[in-house]
Amino acid sequence: MNKKKIEKEYNKKIKLINNYNKNYYDASKPLVTDEVYDNLKKSILSLEKKYFFLNSKNSPSKTIGFKPSKNFKKRPHKTPMLSLANAFGKDDLINFEKRILNFLSKDLDFNLTYSAEPKIDGISASLIYKNSEFKIGLSRGDGKEGEDITTNLATIQDIPKKIKSKNFPEEIDIRGEVFIQNSDFEKLKDKFANPRNAASGSLRQKNPDETRKIPLKFIAYTFGYEKGLKSKNQTDFLKNLDDWGFKTNPLNKLVAGVDNLLINYSKIENDRSKIDFDIDGIVYKINDFELQKRLGNVANSPRWAIAHKFASNKAISKILNIEIQIGRTGALTPVAKIKPINIGGVIVSNATLHNEDEIDRKDIRIGDFATIERAGDVIPHILSVDKNKRDKKSPKFIFPLKCPSCGSKTIKEFNNITKKEDAVRRCSSEGYECEKIAIEKLKHFVSKDAFNIEGFGKKIVENFWNLNLIKLPQDIFDLDFNKIENLEGWGKQSMENLKYSINQKKNISLERLIFSLGIRHIGLENAKILSKYFESFSNFISFSNETISEDILNIDGIGETQLKSVKNFFENKVNLNILKKLQKILVVKDAATKDKNGLLNEKTFMVTGKLIGISRAEVKSLIEENSGTTVSTVTKKLNYLIMGEKPTKKKVDKAKEFKVTILSQSQFLKMLNITS
Ligand code: NAD
Repeated sequence: MNKKKIEKEYNKKIKLINNYNKNYYDASKPLVTDEVYDNLKKSILSLEKKYFFLNSKNSPSKTIGFKPSKNFKKRPHKTPMLSLANAFGKDDLINFEKRILNFLSKDLDFNLTYSAEPKIDGISASLIYKNSEFKIGLSRGDGKEGEDITTNLATIQDIPKKIKSKNFPEEIDIRGEVFIQNSDFEKLKDKFANPRNAASGSLRQKNPDETRKIPLKFIAYTFGYEKGLKSKNQTDFLKNLDDWGFKTNPLNKLVAGVDNLLINYSKIENDRSKIDFDIDGIVYKINDFELQKRLGNVANSPRWAIAHKFASNKAISKILNIEIQIGRTGALTPVAKIKPINIGGVIVSNATLHNEDEIDRKDIRIGDFATIERAGDVIPHILSVDKNKRDKKSPKFIFPLKCPSCGSKTIKEFNNITKKEDAVRRCSSEGYECEKIAIEKLKHFVSKDAFNIEGFGKKIVENFWNLNLIKLPQDIFDLDFNKIENLEGWGKQSMENLKYSINQKKNISLERLIFSLGIRHIGLENAKILSKYFESFSNFISFSNETISEDILNIDGIGETQLKSVKNFFENKVNLNILKKLQKILVVKDAATKDKNGLLNEKTFMVTGKLIGISRAEVKSLIEENSGTTVSTVTKKLNYLIMGEKPTKKKVDKAKEFKVTILSQSQFLKMLNITS
């Protein structure tokens, strides 16, 4: 890569990280997980290490937090509030110790002692005391200037307003962490991603009466400017803090040498889920203040301290229960309910166990302490369990041989292709007789790619099911709207809206109807193929009386598995009855045999952004019914780009560059003589 390209890449990353910082520190609403953030930071730092010419003043190697918000008065810190360098493993710690010994010109066997302090994941605050009275309270801000949040901080009970002890310095700026306990976060979890964001959002409100309502806590751990402090080292200072009436972390410990730091680290990491506040690592500080003074600071962090971080994508917590979820196709999926734990800024309380074999292979049991991984957007899963910590009497987990919902036998199918038993166990009923399957089938029926009934979400399906308003698909078209209008959270308007959405969807194409039925192995593409083969709804229904013929076995794209599945579906009387009922209610459009003379003949389309009241799948079938084609990339050959809300900028720019006609949703519908 040439210099220009490297600089461009670097500046792009700097811009991105600044935007993340703004949202995290200023708005208390992170845009990404800590894992994503930390990886970006690491990549910036490694670019700087590799290319000396990269040194933006906005680099995370130079900046701290984010500039103070305009909502508060700004005040300078007499002594800057710094960040901390990070260590992620033994090597980083060995290097840290070596750098210190080198700087102090000490031999490698010189015994360094550290104050090891679990790093509370909250927000730091600086409390200025003069003549033993709390006078001013500041946030960290950008390290040089903080926000004056004195009145908000004064609402926190853990912060002493007056100190009676004789040895309290004449002037001192006590620093520590404001946070919310996990048990208190429970009540705020709908508003914030994690306890840290909740603490930050609550503390930095304009109205201190609002802050008062939140049970914020404060733990003290260091000081900034001071006049008259007598302590000689960090352990003494922490003890003084206790005597003066501040809360300190009960897990702080004096530790000597890297090996002992690692032992202490593992112990605390293992016990993390037992602590009622979030910690994201352990801070090691050279204990002796004289040595701290000699070591001083680098750009944005002290040379005498380091934060040994926990992995931002893994954590250890206890398995409270193993629940079995039943999917639309009858698959039984085990889910571990774990004691909620913060993994890289996201509170995790469920982890998938995939299937029965996975539980057996890893010998996962209720009550075990498990290492849970949450990487990227993947659903959290269990990596392993600690068998040494297991109660000797803990029984092996037995996967249910009967469906927990309907009591039918559960089975593992034999896969003809792999010649092995499936890993997934299923409820043998696979139909509406099983309550859990029925609910999932109904959710699928109204979902986006199926009937796409606006306002009929998963929660509503569950609610209506519990109220006996729907049990089978046809019930959706025969709802008791008087009853719905009077339900909690409803009313005339929302009831009318739902009624309208349902009525609107009574016209449906055959392929979407087939897909909506939720037949196993029949996805959108297969439904389309089948609809073309059967052409009409009545032909499809009469397939129930036919044996599988050569003719149908030759349809391109449909295999034996799919056909068997359709046959199985028809063998169930409830399903047949549903089809007959739906036939009376719906207007099913026959499958479009490719009409070369459609309104959109030989035209290509692409959609970007969100469309209103019409799903992507619907647009696609409208286009195809009218002889057009949909594509997924913008090229010179594209004829039309349909632009909805929040379109992808890149696609729009490209379309403009290639002079592709851009259509709004209504312009597109007008082409088909549909008024929106
Ligand atoms: P840091 O990791 O550099 O650590 C410094 C902070 O540790 C101090 O300011 C203090 O608040 C805290 N601390 C807790 N206990 C302490 C103790 N005993 N002694 C000293 N300090 C103690 O903090 P930072 O620079 O504010 O933030 C970096 C972290 O924030 C990273 O983990 C990063 O993932 C996360 N972050 C995430 C996003 C996002 O968008 N997800 C954005 C910005 C930062």
